[in-house]
Amino acid sequence: VSGETCTLHTDGIPPDTLIKVQRYLERFHLTREKLQEVSERLRKDLIRGLGKHSHHKAPVKMLPTFVRATPDGTEKGDFLALDLGGTNFRVLHVRVMEEQQRVLKMDSQICAIPKEMMQGTGEQLFDHIAACLYDFLLSHNLERETLPLGFTFSFPCEQKEIDKSILIRWTKGFNCSGVEGEDVVKLLKEAIRRRGDYDIGSVAMVNDTVGTMMSCGFRDQSCEIGMIIGTGTNACYMEEMKNVKRVEGEAGRMCINTEWGGFGDDGSLRDIQTEFDVVVDEMSINPGVHTFEKMISGMYLGEIVRLLLVRLTEDGLLFGGRTSKALLTPEAFETKFISEIEEQDNGLENTQKVLSKFGLKWDTVDSCVVRLVCDAISSRSARLCGAALATLANRIRVNRRQERLKTTVGVDGTVYKKHPNFSEELRATVRLLAPKCDITFLVSEDGSGKGAAMVTAVAQRLARQSRL
Ligand code: BGC
Ligand code: MG
Repeated sequence: VSGETCTLHTDGIPPDTLIKVQRYLERFHLTREKLQEVSERLRKDLIRGLGKHSHHKAPVKMLPTFVRATPDGTEKGDFLALDLGGTNFRVLHVRVMEEQQRVLKMDSQICAIPKEMMQGTGEQLFDHIAACLYDFLLSHNLERETLPLGFTFSFPCEQKEIDKSILIRWTKGFNCSGVEGEDVVKLLKEAIRRRGDYDIGSVAMVNDTVGTMMSCGFRDQSCEIGMIIGTGTNACYMEEMKNVKRVEGEAGRMCINTEWGGFGDDGSLRDIQTEFDVVVDEMSINPGVHTFEKMISGMYLGEIVRLLLVRLTEDGLLFGGRTSKALLTPEAFETKFISEIEEQDNGLENTQKVLSKFGLKWDTVDSCVVRLVCDAISSRSARLCGAALATLANRIRVNRRQERLKTTVGVDGTVYKKHPNFSEELRATVRLLAPKCDITFLVSEDGSGKGAAMVTAVAQRLARQSRL
């Protein structure tokens, strides 16, 4: 054993250990053919989700967003934005400036949502949101203005209009009572009315994917896909109205929130789910829901790694066969550790810090194995996302009958942004599976805040233009 480094990940691992470890990791490796199959399954599921009669049973919901246009650069004005469903709850004041084609974040404030509240009553949650908004308005002298508000609400919602949005179900860590099946705009307005000390203007409801697409769309008007790989994962894209069977009208396009996190909820991904994925699902607060998301997003990747590390240890392949209390604690292994462990330069050092923090007795071989495990899990995630994104790009190209498609994807989310080679692997997969699409990736800065304002601004522009 040479021992000191493991830049190639497998360096420094004795062959017999390596073979046994790889037997576990193989299950996470997806061949090109498998990825192609997954992409093809998703293609069919997109169609099921869009169909009038197939929709109600479809695992990929394909939700109309009532966003019919991306920005054209003439939008303007001041807006409030709320952002719920990512890492933090935030309130923002955003200015859209026509002349410079810029969206400025004037101010923003993070407002913690205690874990108990995430699983308490809906009334408590919305009272808290209304209170945070009031604090923000007060401290920025905005309490007497009635600004339009964009609400980025990053959960699957059945939208009836831009300002009517019914929560289908909670995902990620949320599970507040009395909200599923209700109109979120109504719940927000009622909470503000209960207080009686301020008011808001018109409201636009936005999924974070849509916000991300729209915020990038102001800079690059060919941005027609929005993608999130953070706590959860999802994407939206511009679909031809004639294919959106559940909404009246044939002309033009509408942004569809795919909710691809639900891909596999009908069992269609069973062949690629490992026993570790099954455990993560069973232990979650929403078993059976968001199968695809649970193989991909930040809320779950760390837990998959932890389960694997425990198993490898029990099999005598790590840490001399001895686990630790911390390693045996569900959810203790955070997804951000994966990014640190896989870092090119300091990865090995970071790995050892994490392992020490977990109270594990490690040697260099252990560190190399742990890096290999993280790489297998994050690569699978990146490649699955790549396959799904390729499906969307291919669909847009075929929709438009183009030989080649040039398009831009607005992206956000901690996994995509923080992991050292996630974006690279994702892109490589898209190139492989969508060879006729040239895709530019734009990382969105504050997409869900600025994007919500953009959606509100575009809605106002369209209203203005239709009055002319
Ligand atoms: C939600 C989506 C959201 C995604 C990313 C998923 O759990 O269902 O609506 O876009 O997370 O935040
Ligand atoms: Mg239609």
